[in-house]
Amino acid sequence: MENCIFCKIVNGELPSSKVYEDDKVLAFKDINPQAPVHILVIPKKHYDSIIDIDDSEMDIVAHVHVVINKVAREMGVAQTGFRIINNCGEDGCQEVKHIHYHILGGKKLRSL
Ligand code: 5GP
Ligand code: ZN
Repeated sequence: MENCIFCKIVNGELPSSKVYEDDKVLAFKDINPQAPVHILVIPKKHYDSIIDIDDSEMDIVAHVHVVINKVAREMGVAQTGFRIINNCGEDGCQEVKHIHYHILGGKKLRSL
């Protein structure tokens, strides 16, 4: 997807601090962390948001959660707890239009 910063991170045009990668999913540190642990987990394939994913391709979402499980353990927040956030669309304040899941942890977060 042209001009998508996360697609550019996937294809190596932009640098990132990667913490996990496989053929379908990439996890990297957020450039502006909001907690001691702030990781973004994305499918390598571009989808604007969950609304853009066809039912037939929804297994990627399960795979993203498998990766979230691994990354949370590796980043040391599996036991202490963490938050998974997916901002979707305009009212959800999604800034980057390539679906991504935030993992936030490493401190006590405020309740919603
Ligand atoms: P959103 O508000 O769309 O859910 O979150 C977008 C996130 O992407 C923000 O937390 C922002 O800090 C992060 N971000 C934006 N540009 C870059 C970048 O070039 N590299 C990295 N690692 N994170 C980015
Ligand atoms: Zn993209």
